[in-house]
Amino acid sequence: MDFALNEEQRMYRAAVRDFAEKELRPYAAEVDEKQELRWEAIARMPVLGLTGLQVPEEYGGADLDSVSAAIALEEISRACGSTGLAVAAHNGLCCFPIVKWGTPEQKEKYLPLLTTGKVLGSLALTEPDAGSDLVGGVRTTAVREGNSWIINGGKTWITNAPTAPLVITLVRTDPRAEKPSHSLSLIIVERDTPGFTVGPPIPKLGVRGSHSCPLTFDNVRVPLDNLLGEEGRGLHQTLQTLDGGRIGIAACCVGLAQAALEATLTYIRERRTFGKRLADHQAVQFKVADMAARIEAARWLTYHAAWLKDQGRNFTKEAAMAKIVASEASEFVAYQAIQLHGGYGYSTEFPVERIYRDQRLMSIGEGANEILRLVIARRVLEA
Ligand SMILES: Cc1cc2nc3c(=O)[nH]c(=O)nc-3n(C[C@H](O)[C@H](O)[C@H](O)COP(=O)(O)OP(=O)(O)OC[C@H]3O[C@@H](n4cnc5c(N)ncnc54)[C@H](O)[C@@H]3O)c2cc1C
Repeated sequence: MDFALNEEQRMYRAAVRDFAEKELRPYAAEVDEKQELRWEAIARMPVLGLTGLQVPEEYGGADLDSVSAAIALEEISRACGSTGLAVAAHNGLCCFPIVKWGTPEQKEKYLPLLTTGKVLGSLALTEPDAGSDLVGGVRTTAVREGNSWIINGGKTWITNAPTAPLVITLVRTDPRAEKPSHSLSLIIVERDTPGFTVGPPIPKLGVRGSHSCPLTFDNVRVPLDNLLGEEGRGLHQTLQTLDGGRIGIAACCVGLAQAALEATLTYIRERRTFGKRLADHQAVQFKVADMAARIEAARWLTYHAAWLKDQGRNFTKEAAMAKIVASEASEFVAYQAIQLHGGYGYSTEFPVERIYRDQRLMSIGEGANEILRLVIARRVLEA
């Protein structure tokens, strides 16, 4: 499967895999159970550029191509789903918009901090009444007053919020804009700003080491200079950010599915029924074939979307396709993995139980699959 990857990408995969095998996989069950990331491991990530995958080197990043970035997230998630999601959100949702639209001052101020491995950053789009429909639903406002923006409102499900030194926040800056899509902007809010509160992590089914929290903005005053990019371009910036983020989520799915397949192969080579190994029953082999084929399809769609991004070509449709196919593959593979483990698969003793819970998020976050189908269909019909 490596024929399209270059030597550097293959070496990078080997290095990240080695790191993840030592620093993440042995602790993945504990991360889930204690509901806390292993920060010692995250602190070691900058050596491999994992906390600044596509951040320029001058700010402490690795300045990698998008295929390598996808490979990194795949390998991290193969070892630990919680860490995969947290690192994907940090890179794709927080570092990316600053690299893309930040002023030199904003880059200088925030990127060296974000790449240290001591913190993970956040992007706050979702609100209690706005997820898929951000244009119609966002109620958080930012109003100009002198040299400041005054922000009021609330967000929810914001990944990495407990340690994020800054949260890039989608706000309505011009409720009367002629086009509703021009009424939103992105503003950087630093965590110690008075009036800004991070609520307790929302208890959840999977990726439990990664924390997602509600946020409250109560007359939060930030300098006008904290606007990220142009006023009124927030929706456009968000959609572009999510296009890249979906490649990251697809990569996480591939890693999770790969881990489920590998755990299953180990199990079915040992477990015996009706006088032979599970792996020797043809009906079991058919399941294995379907699992492997779906992972491979998902992997290459993901790399292809990443490759298009690196070519500077439009990849909105392909990123949406990769995320749908990969999240449906991880659902299928994790389901079959538990099935093939029988009762043991349902116990917390085997990793497939955790992987099943971790991957369940992936068809919802960063654009629910139903919304992505609308994105794809629009482009297919217009072609
Ligand atoms: C663990 C986790 C981490 C998250 N991290 C972040 C984060 O860091 N930052 C952030 O901003 N958000 C985050 N989110 C929020 C996530 O992006 C939203 O949950 C997601 O966008 C869906 O929005 P919603 O939950 O409001 O669902 P809704 O928009 O209410 O949709 C509910 C269901 O209806 C479907 N639906 C909606 N409209 C249509 C339609 N027109 N046609 C067909 N079906 C439709 C949706 O596909 C979905 O299945 C996170 C969520 C979770 C669970």
